[in-house]
Amino acid sequence: MSDSVKRLDLNGHKLPPSPALSSPRNSGRHRYALATELVYTETNDQYGASSMPIYQSATFKQPSATAGANDYDYTRSGNPTRTHLERHLAKIMNATRALAVGSGMGALDVITRLLRPGDEVITGDDLYGGTNRLLAYLSSNQGIIVHHVDTTNVDAVRPIVSDKTAMVLLESPTNPLIKIIDIASIARLVHQANGRALVVVDNTMLSPMLSNPLDLGADIVYESGTKYLSGHHDIMAGVIGVNDTAIGDKLYFTINATGCGLSPNDSFLLMRGVKTLAIRMEKQQANAQRIAEFLESHGFRVRYPGLKSHPQYNLHWSMARGAGAVLSFETGSVSVSERIVEATRLWGISVSFGCVNSLISMPCQMSHASIDAQTRKERQLPEDIIRLCVGIEDVNDLIDDLSRALVQAGSMAVTRDSVKAVGLCPSAQRSIGPNADEGV
Ligand SMILES: *Cc1c(COP(=O)(O)O)cnc(C)c1O
Repeated sequence: MSDSVKRLDLNGHKLPPSPALSSPRNSGRHRYALATELVYTETNDQYGASSMPIYQSATFKQPSATAGANDYDYTRSGNPTRTHLERHLAKIMNATRALAVGSGMGALDVITRLLRPGDEVITGDDLYGGTNRLLAYLSSNQGIIVHHVDTTNVDAVRPIVSDKTAMVLLESPTNPLIKIIDIASIARLVHQANGRALVVVDNTMLSPMLSNPLDLGADIVYESGTKYLSGHHDIMAGVIGVNDTAIGDKLYFTINATGCGLSPNDSFLLMRGVKTLAIRMEKQQANAQRIAEFLESHGFRVRYPGLKSHPQYNLHWSMARGAGAVLSFETGSVSVSERIVEATRLWGISVSFGCVNSLISMPCQMSHASIDAQTRKERQLPEDIIRLCVGIEDVNDLIDDLSRALVQAGSMAVTRDSVKAVGLCPSAQRSIGPNADEGV
């Protein structure tokens, strides 16, 4: 084992060495800005491959029957392409250890296997639909007690934390309501009340480019690599980051035991995606900001942390380096919203976000349909809410396409040389001029 490998083995953790290094001189070397670190990787590949090769092999040979395995023996347990990706992710997530699995939900499954029957979980009331579904399953089948509270209110969390609290699961911003959670304050109060409780943060909406929840006091951060990290909607992946190596070992145990580690080919694709995260996110955010301002200036109620009108603007910017590229707005009518979504051409009607292509959806009918209507109502999820997940296209094309759809659906009127919102007032929607359909 070379010196540089030993130095990378933080806290004596036994990560397999060559050729899996991401940035071998990790410890002690100069840290570049994140945009640089995202693309800067090294390997000890025997041919000096610039891109870490795909080790498309399920098994690795041992030198002899008795010598024991090399660094790798079986891909469920470890694979050089995956290890390379994991080290690269650890670096950009400011984590001691990162783990890559088959999907974001796979990551949460691995994390929640730390729980035992009788354990209590505290979480929000505006969660990703899949998270909601998995927690409901754990609660009805595995004896886990799940408390859904309004985690935007730190004081609502405090009285529920007890010595039975095993996990506090947070997501910020939430989606599609774009509510901001004070991760640092909640982590502090939870750890003070119960030193064993784990604070887990779903960072999918921001990615490590915009936020590092471990630095805010979280014990475990995870995110769907399907979104911003991959950026092209061509793979599913999930990543987990921790600083406590004992927790990392437990999570690795589950991954090895259940076989949900990310495949070599998908590890390669995720690595490729991560290298362009900065440039994609910068463009997506800039586009999202313009679109949010466009909608707001036309009278729509827009939820986006890049807007000063967001009620938790300061809180968001105290934790994050950007606003992300997901926003939502309301039209006042479910059928108008449906018509808008269906009238767009550039905006793909699709769940998910973080992709180079722009997407539009109606969460209550799509990503959040697994939450029943009654619960959606209790959680004040407006049925007409439209979610925009902004891509890297030319922003004027995106705004033109959206304007045309808004006019066609009757929620914005066309005047001689401009578009004017009739937005939130349903009766005004009838005042649309004859050119409305083709107007903009
Ligand atoms: C998509 C998503 C997940 C789940 O990730 P998958 O890769 O689809 O399994 C979890 N949390 C949030 C916030 C997401 O957007």
